[in-house]
Amino acid sequence: MFDLIIRNANLPDGSEGFDIGLAGGRIAAIEKRIDATAGEEIDATGRLVSPPFCDPHFHMDATLSLGLPRMNVSGTLLEGIALWGELRPLLTKEALVERALRYCDLAVTQGLLFIRSHVDTSDPRLVTAEALIEVRERVKPYIELQLVAFPQDGYYRAPEGEKSLERALDMGLDIVGGIPHFERTMEDGRRSLEALCRIAAERGLPVDIHCDETDDPMSRHVETLAAETVRYGLQGRVAGSHLTSMHSMDNYYVSKLIPLMAEAEINVIPNPLINIMLQGRHDTYPKRRGMTRVRELMAAGLNVSFGQDCMMDPWYAMGSADMLEVGHMAIHVAQMGGIEDKKRIYEALTVNSARTMGLEGYGLEVGNRADLVVLQAADVVEALRLKPTRLLVVKCGKVISRSAPRIGELFLEGRPASIDPGRDYVPRS
Ligand SMILES: [Zn+2]
Repeated sequence: MFDLIIRNANLPDGSEGFDIGLAGGRIAAIEKRIDATAGEEIDATGRLVSPPFCDPHFHMDATLSLGLPRMNVSGTLLEGIALWGELRPLLTKEALVERALRYCDLAVTQGLLFIRSHVDTSDPRLVTAEALIEVRERVKPYIELQLVAFPQDGYYRAPEGEKSLERALDMGLDIVGGIPHFERTMEDGRRSLEALCRIAAERGLPVDIHCDETDDPMSRHVETLAAETVRYGLQGRVAGSHLTSMHSMDNYYVSKLIPLMAEAEINVIPNPLINIMLQGRHDTYPKRRGMTRVRELMAAGLNVSFGQDCMMDPWYAMGSADMLEVGHMAIHVAQMGGIEDKKRIYEALTVNSARTMGLEGYGLEVGNRADLVVLQAADVVEALRLKPTRLLVVKCGKVISRSAPRIGELFLEGRPASIDPGRDYVPRS
């Protein structure tokens, strides 16, 4: 009757001891006790079973290129962009595909099965788009990859920026991207948003903009993005990535801006690892954090999801394809350490991201896709604290990755022989 039953699972809402039955690639039952047999049964032993993680903001054309052709010495965003400009003419399709596939292998072991990647369209060769389209097809059985046509060097500022972006969309990229704060003037940035939203409306595509990734309190591209979204009737289909200028804006102005964003149903995508690393670089002390106003945006009802943005590339030498690392940083930077805060951060890494990405059939409910992850932790709060091992990753009802639990053996007189960090340190309530 079932292909696979996962028994004794803790669910993300905090309920414990459920069985999850999977059949025909779908979740067929979630019950306290499923009285049936299955092709395979797995005992989750009271661990957290979660829907897979989603990364709504990544750069898969740049990942794992760290050190090519040299390292980022200053560690700044602008040197990162310059460095990427040096590497770009040297990129080959073969190398791009190989690095992306290797990244996806790691992502699967981390339970990360939905990724939205920006794809740089600045080089008219469009070797990046060609490679990532091939990767999208090859990983389809295990990762859903969405591709954004992203004019890294500016839609107007790059010599063939406008044409290259349209050609990349013609090739089959899924989403319209942009970078208004990198155009030559505020006015060019404003015009780029008008053009990009118009293109999206004409083609029936979503929009995802690197918007105001600066510390400039006077930057106004977020309001333009919200206004153009409403003008073209794109409500709910537009994402504003980064929005770091909002950290530095005047409070009165933000009190007007957030309702505009809510009216446009902008999906907000902060990138905590990258924002805390790259923003505030012109400050001495005190130094701004630079992440957008997560708590206030959530309170206003906006859909907030977090992106990893980078892993081992010209901008960020760290990262591990772990969305819990992203959530862990978000908790610190947004100072959202309360228990309800943490539950909302976990939702941002799962259901909110799924909404940003427009995923269908996502989540642990009967009838949805049989995609799930078993973690070496008891609940979502512990998962954020521990960034634990993903013991099992299931896609379409099939186990696609398995990792041994992290168990520390001890050789100490009078102390236990081993510890399980996911079980032996759970808070007692
Ligand atoms: Zn980015």
